[in-house]
Amino acid sequence: MTDHDADEGLRSHGGLFFPTGPALLTNSLLNKGTAFTERERDVLGLRGLLPPRVFTIEEQLRRVYGNFQRKADPLEKFIFLTTLQNRNETLFYRLVEEHAEEMIPIIYTPTVGQACLEYGAIFRRSRGLFISIRERGRVSEILRHWPHPDVRMIVVTDGERILGLGDLGALGMGIPVGKLSLYTACAGLHPYYCLPVTLDVGTDNEKLHDDPLYIGINQRRVRGPEYDAFIAEFVAAVRQAYPKALLQWEDFGNTNAFRLLRAYRDQICSFNDDIQGTAAVALAGLLGGLRLTGGSLRDQRLLFLGAGEAGTGIADLFVSALQEEGLGLAEARSRCWFVDSQGLVVRSRPGRLAEHKEPYAQDHPPVATLAGALEAHRPTALIGVSGQAQGFTREIVARMAALNPRPIIFALSNPTSKAECTAEQAYQWSDGRAVFASGSPFPPVTIAGRTYVPGQGNNVYIFPGVGLGALVCEASRITDGMFLTAARTLAAQAGEEDFALGRVYPPLSKIREVSVRIATAVAGEAHRAGLARRPRPADIEADVRARMFVPEYVDYF
Ligand code: NAD
Repeated sequence: MTDHDADEGLRSHGGLFFPTGPALLTNSLLNKGTAFTERERDVLGLRGLLPPRVFTIEEQLRRVYGNFQRKADPLEKFIFLTTLQNRNETLFYRLVEEHAEEMIPIIYTPTVGQACLEYGAIFRRSRGLFISIRERGRVSEILRHWPHPDVRMIVVTDGERILGLGDLGALGMGIPVGKLSLYTACAGLHPYYCLPVTLDVGTDNEKLHDDPLYIGINQRRVRGPEYDAFIAEFVAAVRQAYPKALLQWEDFGNTNAFRLLRAYRDQICSFNDDIQGTAAVALAGLLGGLRLTGGSLRDQRLLFLGAGEAGTGIADLFVSALQEEGLGLAEARSRCWFVDSQGLVVRSRPGRLAEHKEPYAQDHPPVATLAGALEAHRPTALIGVSGQAQGFTREIVARMAALNPRPIIFALSNPTSKAECTAEQAYQWSDGRAVFASGSPFPPVTIAGRTYVPGQGNNVYIFPGVGLGALVCEASRITDGMFLTAARTLAAQAGEEDFALGRVYPPLSKIREVSVRIATAVAGEAHRAGLARRPRPADIEADVRARMFVPEYVDYF
C-alpha cells in the first residue's frame, strides 16, 4: 500500500472519469469546497458553483471549528461532523487531527453510542455498505457497488452487541463508520482504502421492531447454519473482491464473536477488536500501572467483572505475557478470576460453561457476589468489562484500597453511562490511591488539592496502529504476538509526565505518534514471523510514516 496508490485510485476514480462540476463537489474524497484554486475552478467546471473567494485549508478550519463549537449538544456535534465528513473528508480529518482530544469522544465513544441509538432518527445519508441476509447469494454483486476497487480495511458488524448497549441491529453502522474514521485520524490510513459494512441479519431488540424509523430489516435475528452460510459468503466475496483487505470483526455478540474469530483468523487477515484490541490496551494499562504501583506482572492477581469478549480476551493476552515470563499455563490462568451475571465463574456451576470461560473456571465453592469474590481472590487489579453501570460500589473500591496500597481499577465498559464507576468515585473512595482508567473519557478530578488525570483504556490506542502495521507490510494474518507487541509498545509510550498525573497511557493528542510506533512494531513482528507479503524495507518506521495519509489538499494540476 502506498499513499500514491490511493491517490492514483482517486484520480482514476475507480476506472471512471475524474468528476467535474457538481459531481466533484459531492465527491467527499476529492472535494475541496472553497479551497479549489482559480485554475481548478476553470478546468474542472466549477466557475459559479462556488463563491468567488478562494480560501486556504487553515481558513476553512477556522470556520468549521467555529461552527462545531457553536453546537451545544454532543449529538448535534456528531451530526455536524458526519455532514462535514460526507462533504469534504480532507477538511474533516484535518479538524479531527488538530483537535483529537475534543473530537474523538464525539465521533467515537461515548457520543457514537448515543448516535447509534438514534441512528434511524438522525439518518441523513448512507455511508458504507448495508448487506442484509435477504440478499444472500448476491453479496459479491453488492460489494461491486462500492466505488473504490482497492479496499484494504473493512470493519464489519452485525450490530448484536454495540458498545455496552446491546442489540441495535442495523443502527450499529455508526460503529464501523466511527472506527474507520479513527483508522484515518489516528493512524493515517487513507480513507480511500476503508469500507464500513453492516451485515443485517435482523434484531432481537423488540423496541426496534416497533420503531417506525428503524432502518434495518424488521425480523428476528437469523442464527445457526443460515447465519454461518451468510458470513461465509461474505468472507469469500471479500477475499475475491479485495484480496489485500484486513477484516476487523466488530461488536458481534459473544456467541458469534469467538466462533468467527476462531473460524477465520487462520484463513484470512482478520482480528476481533473487542477481544484482541481491548486485551492489548488493558495489558498496556497494567504494564503502565505497574510503573505506579511498583509490582511486577507475575505478582498480579486480576478480578474481572464481566466474562465476555473483552474480559476473557484481556485474560488470554495477560496469560500469554506471563507465559513469556516463564509461568506455566495453569499457574498463569489461576491469576485471573471472573465474576459474571451468575457470580464467580467456578467449575461446579450447574450447566455447561461457555467455551471462552472454561479456562478460567475456578475450583472454588460458588460465590454469588463481586464482594465475595474480592475476599476470596484478594486481587491487585479490578477490571470492569460487564457493561453494567456502577458495578464497582464504594464498598468494593474501598476494599480494594484496603487490600492494596495502589489498587488498579479499570472501569472499561462503554459508553460512559455503562462505566462500572466514575473517575471521581474511584479516586474519592480510594483516598486518591487508585490507578484508574476508563473505556470512555472522564474529566480530571481534584481531591485535597491534587489533580488526577484519568487515562482512557480504550482500544483506540491499539487497533489503528495494528491495522496500519499490518497494511504497510501486507500481513497475511494477524497474530496474538502482534497484539502483545502492540501492548508493550503502547505501555512504553507513557512517560513520567503521564505517571505524575496518575495516567497510565499517553494523552490522545499523541495518538498518531503512538500509532506509528505500534505500526512499526507490528510490521516488524509480521516480518519476523514470515507473515509479511511485502519485502522488508530497510527502515520500517520510515516506510510506515511515508505511507500515512496527511489531510492536506492535493493539487489537481
Ligand atoms: P460481552 O457481552 O461479551 O460480555 C459481557 C459480560 O458481562 C458477560 O460475561 C456477562 O455475563 C457479564 N455481565 C452481564 N451482566 C452482569 C452483571 N450484572 N454482573 C456481572 N457480570 C455481568 O461484552 P464485551 O464485548 O465483553 O463488552 C463488555 C463491555 O466492555 C461493554 O460495555 C463494552 O463497551 C466494553 N468494552 C470496552 C472496550 C474498551 O476499549 N474500553 C473494548 C471492548 C469492550
